[in-house]
Amino acid sequence: MTQRYPDFIWHNGEIKRWQDATVHVMAHGLHYGSSVFEGIRSYDTNHGPKIFRLSDHNRRLFASAKIYEMPIPYTVDQLNQACRDVLAANKMGQGYLRPIAYRDLGGFGLSADCPTSVAVACWDMGRYLGADVIDRGIDACVSSWQRFAPNTIPAGAKAGGNYLSGQLVAREARRLGFGEGIALASTGLLSEGAGENLFLVFEGALHTPPVSAALLNGITRNTIITLARSVGIDVVERDIPREYLYLCDELFMCGTAAEITPIRSVDGRDVGTGKPGPVTRKIQEMFFGLFNGTTPDTHGWLE
Ligand code: PMP
Repeated sequence: MTQRYPDFIWHNGEIKRWQDATVHVMAHGLHYGSSVFEGIRSYDTNHGPKIFRLSDHNRRLFASAKIYEMPIPYTVDQLNQACRDVLAANKMGQGYLRPIAYRDLGGFGLSADCPTSVAVACWDMGRYLGADVIDRGIDACVSSWQRFAPNTIPAGAKAGGNYLSGQLVAREARRLGFGEGIALASTGLLSEGAGENLFLVFEGALHTPPVSAALLNGITRNTIITLARSVGIDVVERDIPREYLYLCDELFMCGTAAEITPIRSVDGRDVGTGKPGPVTRKIQEMFFGLFNGTTPDTHGWLE
């Protein structure tokens, strides 16, 4: 199937035709993974199109860039506007936005002070892990690949190079016939999915690995923690051994792309009854309720 692309992209301050937004083959980011990026969703809501937690995402882009000493020649507000502009240029209400800042052409050494280029693309993503998975859930496996150890590559930055790890985890899972792969941290304890955070349900409470477990501190993860606590569901951030994937009552993945995806089995063992459970359903209902108006947006997340 040939991929169809949107017409326009925002690149270094201008809206360009998609095919004109190009990079030199000697750009630093291409060789060394030196880019930082975001994934953001815009939803058609009962109040028109809204971008979910736009400013929080672009603030995280700047946080990732700070870790790598990559100056971004724009402000958060300017990148927020670029996101709105690129959606408008493509006449899209609902869609997935991808801001990316990368070290461009300007030197060959690892520590070269290359100029930072910035682009914002958008496209129609649909359900990232498959059309009906939000409802029925996916079969997952624990990857033979671990996440990177602390003090090697910072998991808290959403940097291009980190996604070499994610690709190994995701491709292995797909090759073996699973919907997604789950990685352990170098400690052997649970970390996260290839591109999603994890929540387990035990006796009605939500448990999720802590940010020290080599994971990206997801904005969806934070959304779920906030929503769950607002209705009196206990949330515990703690180290979780692998076997709890098999012993928990419910399990789901979350992320901007994956939204809230139930996991119905891990490594061939059913999770709970093998069907998405009541806490997962409640979290889905509250999360998707933000967009259909049944969950009040008390935090100003719809921008
Ligand atoms: N972990 C990884 C490795 C990811 O790529 C993502 C997606 N950005 C997440 C977790 C979830 O983060 P968020 O909810 O901010 O999209």
